[in-house]
Amino acid sequence: MVYIGIDLGGTNIAVGAVSEAGSILAEASTKTLSQRPFEVIVKDMADCIKKVLVKGKIALDDVKSIGIGIPGVADSDSGIVLNCTNLGWVNVPLRAEMQKYINKPVLIENDANVAALAESYVGVSAGCQSSVMVTLGTGVGGGIVINGKTWPGAHNRGGEIGHMTLVPDGVPCTCGNNGCVERYCSATALIRMARQECYSFPQSAILQKAGGDPDRINAKLVIDAAKEGDAPALRVFNTFVRYLALSLNNIVAFFDPEIIVLGGGVSHAGDFLLDSVRALLPRLQMFKSLPGPRVELARLGNEAGIIGAALLGKNTYV
Ligand SMILES: [Zn+2]
Repeated sequence: MVYIGIDLGGTNIAVGAVSEAGSILAEASTKTLSQRPFEVIVKDMADCIKKVLVKGKIALDDVKSIGIGIPGVADSDSGIVLNCTNLGWVNVPLRAEMQKYINKPVLIENDANVAALAESYVGVSAGCQSSVMVTLGTGVGGGIVINGKTWPGAHNRGGEIGHMTLVPDGVPCTCGNNGCVERYCSATALIRMARQECYSFPQSAILQKAGGDPDRINAKLVIDAAKEGDAPALRVFNTFVRYLALSLNNIVAFFDPEIIVLGGGVSHAGDFLLDSVRALLPRLQMFKSLPGPRVELARLGNEAGIIGAALLGKNTYV
């Protein structure tokens, strides 16, 4: 059997046909153009699936299910997208609309959970019974996988690590609260802290790399400056790592997963980030002599969205 996986993003929709073993057999993509009515976007998604089937010479009868990873919250029972800020979707009947075109089981879940599932099947956490994936991008996403299944939570809000409170009365968050993990551990946070540092230390290599324009500071540039040993950049990076390690330690205290997987744009800092987190996390843990989870970098990259969404079908229907 073949499983269709769809990575629905604010800019692009990537569709793939995935084998039982979790490898992509054929793929295609289309622009989301999120201002359009959702019915038109879903029709494009269905057309993209048909294109993938032709490309991969796959018969519709061989398709077991369609899985969709969304940047938001869905009700897995009803197949309704409850809230998807990037797309401006509230209470969108995504499953019913998709089944107008292709009558197969449709499973919908948050994209961070989907990425965590992909890693647990064919990525760095394969073979682990419990894993938590933390994506460090524009925001901070979290996904929980237990015994090969995602844990969406009783109210589809499980794993929202980015919105755990880290700093009481801290930086305002898009979710309506203050001081969320996302405001201190995302690429956005790294950039904000770097701009503040450059205000006090304008000679920093960060600002030089940005051509003297604070608006051009991005996460990669801050990390590159820190790798070169620039003191202000290192202060920013170390502050970032401390917030991240504190957040991960909260996950360990509450959930104690076998492995924590770091993904998203900031994780491209590679060993520079991984070594720092691995050095600090054991020092924060309770009962220091007890073993803690492995911390690893995600392995799958962009294809995690397609593979994980497809595996939602395998997850439920096998
Ligand atoms: Zn928040």
